[in-house]
Amino acid sequence: MSESGAVTQAVWTNWSGKLRAPDGATIHHVRSEADAAALAAATGAAGRRLRVAGAGHSHMPLVPTDGVIADLSGLSGVISTDAATGRAWVWAGTPIHALGRPLHEAGLALANQGDIDRQAIGGATATGTHGTGRTLRNLSSAVVGARLALASGELVDVSATERPELFPAVRLHLGAVGIVTRLELQLRPAFRLREQGFVAPLAEVIDRFDELATANRHAELFWYPTRDRAVVKVIDETDDEPEYPLGPEGRRCAWSYEVLPSHRDWRHSEIEYSVPAEAGPVCFAAIRELLARDFPTMGWPVEYRTLAADDVWLSTAYERPTVTISLHLPAADDDGPLFRAAEAVFRDHDGRPHWAKVHHLDGRSLAAIHPAWDQWWAVRDSMDPAGTFLNDHLQAVRP
Ligand SMILES: Cc1cc2nc3c(=O)[nH]c(=O)nc-3n(C[C@H](O)[C@H](O)[C@H](O)COP(=O)(O)OP(=O)(O)OC[C@H]3O[C@@H](n4cnc5c(N)ncnc54)[C@H](O)[C@@H]3O)c2cc1C
Repeated sequence: MSESGAVTQAVWTNWSGKLRAPDGATIHHVRSEADAAALAAATGAAGRRLRVAGAGHSHMPLVPTDGVIADLSGLSGVISTDAATGRAWVWAGTPIHALGRPLHEAGLALANQGDIDRQAIGGATATGTHGTGRTLRNLSSAVVGARLALASGELVDVSATERPELFPAVRLHLGAVGIVTRLELQLRPAFRLREQGFVAPLAEVIDRFDELATANRHAELFWYPTRDRAVVKVIDETDDEPEYPLGPEGRRCAWSYEVLPSHRDWRHSEIEYSVPAEAGPVCFAAIRELLARDFPTMGWPVEYRTLAADDVWLSTAYERPTVTISLHLPAADDDGPLFRAAEAVFRDHDGRPHWAKVHHLDGRSLAAIHPAWDQWWAVRDSMDPAGTFLNDHLQAVRP
């Protein structure tokens, strides 16, 4: 333990257990914004690297560093809500599951959520985490303001009106701009959802999926290749009273924050690409062909979701309506052969990889598929010229 008592030797691993911080890293449990600012300044001055950890659910090595890992779990909770604007300030270390009730009590809710709610809101927004819904954007799109500690030790507020030149780079930032201490989120009035799930042969539902995705607020398809069956979930707004105890996934009716998250306890690794919406069906067909031909025993689910276009620089849905397709494997397996083969298919369909899931793209390839790549790096570099907030993974893709 150091003099401050806040620094311990690292034993940081990610959720799947596949990633681990190297020996020599230290973890700092951030206690306040002043602590975050001082940590950033001291780490920068010492010439060490600094990465922030959310809940460690990323499959890409975004967090590991041999420098300092700032654990933000101590900065948690809702700071303030504003019913008139439908906005709220929240601490960046807040787990998404801890946002639901306090926001609900203020009459507010996130417009959408991903498959699970275990991530920190700071981590989820940093990587473009999304749910499903043709008209719904990812969580980074909900970021309308942020406060962060820069490597200089300065605490800055950014939004469309405060330091607006920094704002586009901070909405989805990969942990590379500073320690984000708080976020302002655009929410919507609290709402209830009814979820319906059914299982059907893939052939019966794949041609109907487009129709389901148009007719319902949310639609999601999980295909289990070796059984050639698909689990389909559709979710819509309802005025029905909540039904407690909550049913199993696929049969819930309650408030949005109670219905949208599910449990994904099986430790897995995952690859996910976003393709233009119109390329979704043909890309999915190509993935099916690949699995039938080269990986006939792969029984883990392939997930198919939709996502609205947005204006977030590094978003995988930047300026294009999107379909996301993901493949899973047990965490203990070597995901290389399957994920690389799937990645080639995704790339043939103009795919952009999820920042937090497995991909193998170099900087040149990322620059080619992200129109705002160079702009993002220019703003990032202006905020952190010495590269304190980079690690080996990000340094390797730097222009
Ligand atoms: C079981 C499971 C289900 C998932 N489901 C979905 C899904 O439905 N949709 C989807 O899009 N993704 C999904 N993901 C991916 C997940 O949402 C992302 O990996 C997300 O980034 C995880 O958030 P985290 O809090 O664990 O962040 P971490 O993995 O800890 O960190 C992610 C990034 O955020 C940075 N960061 C975190 N907090 C801060 C902060 N306060 N300041 C600065 N930088 C910060 C880190 O440095 C890192 O770069 C899933 C992952 C798992 C394991």
